[in-house]
Amino acid sequence: MLKIKHLSFSFGGRDVLKDISASYEPGLIHGLIGPNGSGKTTLLKNICRILEPNKGRVDLFGQDCQALGRRHLSSLVSLVPQNPKVNFPITVYELVKMGRYPHLKRFQSTNENDLQVVERALLATNTDSLRERSVTELSGGEAQLVLIARALATEAQLILLDEPTASLDVGNSLAIMELLVELKKQGKTILTSVHDLNQARRFCDTITILKEGEIYYFGPTANAFTRAALEDVFRVTFAQINDVLEFDSLFVSGGSV
Ligand code: ADP
Repeated sequence: MLKIKHLSFSFGGRDVLKDISASYEPGLIHGLIGPNGSGKTTLLKNICRILEPNKGRVDLFGQDCQALGRRHLSSLVSLVPQNPKVNFPITVYELVKMGRYPHLKRFQSTNENDLQVVERALLATNTDSLRERSVTELSGGEAQLVLIARALATEAQLILLDEPTASLDVGNSLAIMELLVELKKQGKTILTSVHDLNQARRFCDTITILKEGEIYYFGPTANAFTRAALEDVFRVTFAQINDVLEFDSLFVSGGSV
């Protein structure tokens, strides 16, 4: 459903994404990992056209994203940004309702169906009780859930998330990852950058590892966390691997840890 073909992107002449190709199946959680600065956020933004690729293309449902109108694209793919801080004092309900905008024509207001979609998004994310709160007064975990609710309100099949659990405590982190699993069960396709390798390993069906703007690994989670990957990409030494991964980290030679 999502195919990235030979995508390259540069900031001011500096290559940040280099010839990225990957293909993502529907109904799964796809994890995007890599060190800080490896290009994860830039890739997510290129997929939903907040940034435009310099080369290559992104196909969604077999259609070239660049050929799709912005509104149409917004109803197919929705990005939940990193460290959401909403500074304008609207209510949670109004913010989630904004997820319906891609479906409205100019000057058209929301109808009964739109409002039902908003209600479902609030319930699915357990943010129903926050509906009258100002978004400026939410905790980090609440704000993340509300932005996921807004993404659900778009009814986009593909949801992109940029480190949704960064800066959350362990309970809130798990709540977010478990919500992603629930959304997967409902048929959504998730592509999320994840900074916590243990969470990536536990919750994601596939892993894409970015290293300096290039794909180092793309495939099933079971084969992603090799000793070589941890050493080459994350600069974790052999002696540190037990500290990094919580799992029984006995090496199968050349295989995953
Ligand atoms: P990640 O999400 O993996 O931490 P980013 O996609 O944020 O990585 O950044 C990739 C590279 O692009 C980094 O070297 C970063 O400094 C650079 N970069 C990100 N945003 C900008 C920008 N607006 N202008 C110039 N360089 C940027």
